[in-house]
Amino acid sequence: MKRRKQGPGRRDEVAGLVTAAARARLLAYAPYSRFRVGAAVRTRDGEVYTGANVENASYPLSHCAERVAIHKAVCDGHRHLDTVVVVADGETPAMPCGACRQVMAEFGVRRVIAASPSGRTRVRTLRQLLAEPFLPERLLGSHENTGTRDRGNARRRRRVR
Ligand SMILES: [Zn+2]
Repeated sequence: MKRRKQGPGRRDEVAGLVTAAARARLLAYAPYSRFRVGAAVRTRDGEVYTGANVENASYPLSHCAERVAIHKAVCDGHRHLDTVVVVADGETPAMPCGACRQVMAEFGVRRVIAASPSGRTRVRTLRQLLAEPFLPERLLGSHENTGTRDRGNARRRRRVR
């Protein structure tokens, strides 16, 4: 059975992500809930983006830390993400909400680590947290009949002209 190396480099990497998320948490804008959350997202090519929760007096407009970090990575051109670390207030590590789990599935997140400020951690695969996600293939699959997705897009562009 093939195993991934669990050397100190890997542990250091997780510790670095937890530190980045914990720092981001301090920048949370959470005057209403007073529940500060920070997140760090690692892309498949190793870049790290952070985010914090941003609340609004109109409550539904608030954003979770995870989605802020993911959308920063996406707006920088990244489409393939690997790990999300969440650090929230409280002694028990808080797992991401359902909406964030769905957004993670969109960009292929594989691993989620929830940590408390005191250092307690829980590690889960996204599959464990979201068993049957609604994936992009569901909507993009219809283009398979006409060839590759890119070719389908090119055809649509031609039609528009
Ligand atoms: Zn969320």
